[in-house]
Amino acid sequence: MNRRDALKFVGISVATTAVLGNEASLKNDLSNTNGVVPVAKLPKNGKGPRIVVIGGGWSGLSVAKRLKQYVPDADVVMVEQRTSFVSCPISNLWLVGGVELEFLSHSFLDAANNNGYTYFNASVYDIDRKKRTVYTNQGSVDYEYLVIASGIDYDYSRWTKGDATLEYELRTKYPAGFQNHGEHETIKGKIKNFKGGNFILTVPGGNYRCLPAPYERACLIADYMKKNKIKGKVIVMDENPEITIKAKGFHSAFSEMYKDYITYMPGTVIEEFDLKNKKVTTDFGDDISFSDAAFYPRVRGSKLLEIAGIAKDGINKGEANIDQITYQVIGDDRVFCSGDLRPMTFSKSGNTANTEGHNVARSIASRILGTKYIWESPHTRCYSVVALKPARAIFVNTDYKWNDSDKTFTFFNAATMEDWRVKAGVDAGKALIGWGSNLYQDMFYK
Ligand SMILES: Cc1cc2nc3c(=O)[nH]c(=O)nc-3n(C[C@H](O)[C@H](O)[C@H](O)COP(=O)(O)OP(=O)(O)OC[C@H]3O[C@@H](n4cnc5c(N)ncnc54)[C@H](O)[C@@H]3O)c2cc1C
Repeated sequence: MNRRDALKFVGISVATTAVLGNEASLKNDLSNTNGVVPVAKLPKNGKGPRIVVIGGGWSGLSVAKRLKQYVPDADVVMVEQRTSFVSCPISNLWLVGGVELEFLSHSFLDAANNNGYTYFNASVYDIDRKKRTVYTNQGSVDYEYLVIASGIDYDYSRWTKGDATLEYELRTKYPAGFQNHGEHETIKGKIKNFKGGNFILTVPGGNYRCLPAPYERACLIADYMKKNKIKGKVIVMDENPEITIKAKGFHSAFSEMYKDYITYMPGTVIEEFDLKNKKVTTDFGDDISFSDAAFYPRVRGSKLLEIAGIAKDGINKGEANIDQITYQVIGDDRVFCSGDLRPMTFSKSGNTANTEGHNVARSIASRILGTKYIWESPHTRCYSVVALKPARAIFVNTDYKWNDSDKTFTFFNAATMEDWRVKAGVDAGKALIGWGSNLYQDMFYK
């Protein structure tokens, strides 16, 4: 097969531009692919600056849309490995039949077409910041500005201590369900086929993705067991000494609705996994057997940060080394990061990632246009459903404030609603659907 045939052979899907490059650019690519099958260079679209956004999640979609609004002549390219978007927020409801998959699923092509940017369906495997080139399995893309918004990766090291076989078994047989929809499919199957016994869920330490979601998932699985008269128990093993958010609301749901269905174990770390015999040993020395489980490990920023050479060390190990106000990578004024891979103490939530995207787009636009950049607080609004039919929810709402003395952010104007028993709890259950619809509208439509 010659190079031209290879190009034809590898399918390339791009929403708004053609992709095949010329022979010269192809030769350039061939010289630096380290044996990975090269394709072509994505041609430039228009005269404006090329801005590449890696990741079409809650942050990347927001950044790409805003960039096109603030810098209309920019050639914005969103590189995303998935072929379609399925939402993580609200997926806990889907696990137990609370919403249809259609509600969570959206088209990247529509998002790009509606908002005037390019969706390049490809997986990034390398970033050369000197050459300002991103390498993907479908070809390379040059940039003038780059945004890395590729989310999180799991960090199993605390449990596995380098045992790759154990990590593989945990990832494939007991997926956490905090990264992609494939994992949710597996967990949904586990719930549907659950016959009884213990269903273990873990809550990691650190600033893990979506603080309330593991407790919400526990409530909804317990609700399912209760309604379907399954003799089972959700065992919540929490590495933290206390429920990390909306504790009053979750504790009352656990004790009042799910006394016989949820056992909450605070400050508990799994020291040993015996997956063959379906048993774990905790740091208290308890042996706990299980029929099924979803083990949620600690999280870190996407490993693309290491590939790009911009991962932090020390306390924020594995998170992006950026200026916390401008989102610019320290020492590289062409690269920015957005979303859950950030080192800031913000909640790792979709609403935060989406609203933060406005800042990132404004920060880049101000650089390009020579205008003043104004930081605005990202906004976190997070609903957690604790029961279905009718859906009853609790929620937290907060902005953030910068403290110059210790160079961190703290909650600002924070408010919670934790009483799921009253009318406000039922209203919150309905409001959750409106919240999701509004954000999908924001990300996928004009
Ligand atoms: C079960 C669950 C429930 C949640 N509930 C809520 C909730 O109720 N409310 C809320 O606000 N938030 C919730 N969240 C959190 C929310 O989903 C995340 O905070 C949000 O998705 C973060 O956005 P992001 O853009 O940083 O990352 P992501 O949305 O994960 O996007 C990253 C994107 O990058 C892509 N990518 C990664 N690597 C590459 C590569 N090499 N090449 C190309 N593309 C790549 C990925 O495919 C992905 O699309 C929940 C999460 C989960 C898992």
